[in-house]
Amino acid sequence: MKVGFIGLGNMGAPMAQNLAKAGHDVTGFDLQAPCPEGVSKAETAAGAAKGQDVVITMLPNGAILRSVADEIIPAMDKGAVLLDCSTVDVESARAVAEQAEAAGVMAVDAPVSGGVGGASGGTLTFMAGGRQEAFAKVNPLFDVMGQKAVHCGDSGAGQSAKICNNMILGVTMIATCEAFALADKLGLDRQKMFDVVSTSSGYSWTMNAYCPAPGVGPTSPADNDYQPGFAAELMLKDLRLSQQAAEAVDADTPMGHSATDLYAQFVEQEGGKGMDFSAMLPRFEKRHRG
Ligand code: NAD
Repeated sequence: MKVGFIGLGNMGAPMAQNLAKAGHDVTGFDLQAPCPEGVSKAETAAGAAKGQDVVITMLPNGAILRSVADEIIPAMDKGAVLLDCSTVDVESARAVAEQAEAAGVMAVDAPVSGGVGGASGGTLTFMAGGRQEAFAKVNPLFDVMGQKAVHCGDSGAGQSAKICNNMILGVTMIATCEAFALADKLGLDRQKMFDVVSTSSGYSWTMNAYCPAPGVGPTSPADNDYQPGFAAELMLKDLRLSQQAAEAVDADTPMGHSATDLYAQFVEQEGGKGMDFSAMLPRFEKRHRG
């Protein structure tokens, strides 16, 4: 397929490279980042979008997505698909899809789970929103960039699934970290804590696959001085998106709200920026009740 790829950062570059390696004809554009090997460079976003079967965007946020969409949708062929893989607010995803459809372009919002490792290894999970016809057209690209793609519903459904998943992730990481900090103060050995919880009803992805305690469980960012991994500020971004969505539909999400406040405090006042989101554990260790 002929593919345009806009946003060649930490995630976009390896995704575009995997598509090129699989034999797709990929043209890339980024304001700053260089094109990875095998990807031809366009001089503008519109240049990367023109004449393509599919145009993929992998951008930092909804405002940037909307401004790039203004530029590329008029340049795209009718019947082509705009595939946005960024994590953005549901409202922006729906607005861009509407704008695309009005111009005869199909749109799919398909944020990813799996991080930079998943992007490089081609093992991402995609959660997609948009028409079935559009999903079917981009499915072969999902097969190259990832291991699983779930069609979640209409436009915005991919972003909805992503922020609900990541709200669970943020809340669960905090619960796991505060339980470890409590166990420490109760004099419980961390390995014993892991051995029990990872096979009991408190088990979770954060405990079993991404344990925030160094030297315990599988290798995780905790074993590398909490270098990300998944940075605390990205967790905060996703939690804020969950709260923005909750407010828009009047959903009661008290745990998501508390997790957002805690990550905001951690990132903005307590030096958590640039650390992995599991560094909540050393944060709790240092603190006392009240
Ligand atoms: P990044 O900052 O490394 O890359 C974003 C790229 O977009 C940059 O290279 C930037 O120069 C480019 N860009 C910004 N404005 C542009 C414009 N107007 N035109 C063209 N290019 C522009 O970010 P990333 O880590 O690659 O993340 C991209 C998206 O994926 C984000 O929405 C993020 O939330 C999501 N995501 C990231 C991860 C992760 O682990 N990094 C995991 C899942 C989802």
